[in-house]
Amino acid sequence: MADEWQVPTTTDSGIPGDPTTDWAPTGIDVDKPSAARVYDAILGGKDNFAVDRAIADRVLTVMPNARTGAMLNRAILERGVRYLAGRGVDQFLDLGSGLPTVRNTHEVAQETNPQARVAYVDHDPIVVAHGRALLADDDRTRVVTADVREPHKVLTHPDVVQLLDFTRPVGLLLVAVLHHLADADEPARLVREYRDALAPGSFLFITHFSDSTPEGRELEKVFLATLGSGRFRSRATVEDFFTGTDLVEPGVVFLPRWRPDRPVTDEAAYAGLGMIGGIGRLPDRVDEMRSSGA
Ligand code: SAM
Repeated sequence: MADEWQVPTTTDSGIPGDPTTDWAPTGIDVDKPSAARVYDAILGGKDNFAVDRAIADRVLTVMPNARTGAMLNRAILERGVRYLAGRGVDQFLDLGSGLPTVRNTHEVAQETNPQARVAYVDHDPIVVAHGRALLADDDRTRVVTADVREPHKVLTHPDVVQLLDFTRPVGLLLVAVLHHLADADEPARLVREYRDALAPGSFLFITHFSDSTPEGRELEKVFLATLGSGRFRSRATVEDFFTGTDLVEPGVVFLPRWRPDRPVTDEAAYAGLGMIGGIGRLPDRVDEMRSSGA
């Protein structure tokens, strides 16, 4: 397992990160926490403010191994993207992409296929500023400011349609973002709208907080009280997000059990963590005809 934990967490965006707020893009309220920056703080990154670190501290009090959980999420992101690139996917729509760290989607995908294209989408202006600084010279990536709750705007955004060809398979990533949507946002409907815009043979890749542990249920209260988002949902609910796709083995599972690079041995380090995820494939037309008996 050891290598999987070694996720360095400093960014290389060219924007100085330090405990001050000097580097914040204009218009940012440095007293208002953001999911992207709290996640960065939990990972041990430096692109966060005091208000974000205070929440990260509370999270680590309730769940001392939360950083392990965040790293498991980054690790499955890498395994999943590698899996998709290995299945021939050469274009990715990464929704709620977060602050650039290491082993970002385009870096992993382009190891398999240097021509792979990635559109990153996030609503956090700091994510977008860092992403653009990092990717300024890369014409196969774009960083787009948009709200994932507006699929039509995302899917018709000029930068997205310029980069991605929706008549061909796309890898759609919703990694650690759907839990930041409230039930009232109807995440299942949103996923369906994205899925319906994808060509046969596309893939849906989701990770999500799970309500399976007492620590997770406690953490939900902390997230909702401080950040205002962070819903821990059941496995059945997360499996429902994959409706209309064929789940890739082993299905929706605790993150380190999804196609691990090496046997999972360090169960003690995972105690209390509840993060699940998986990948589903949209059937292509031949498959559909076979399963319907046509
Ligand atoms: N996907 C990355 C990963 O798994 O490492 C980052 C996950 S981070 C926990 C969640 C990201 O989702 C944050 O960057 C946050 O800004 C973004 N996010 C949350 N709600 C969003 C929304 N409604 N629209 C766009 N991005 C959103």
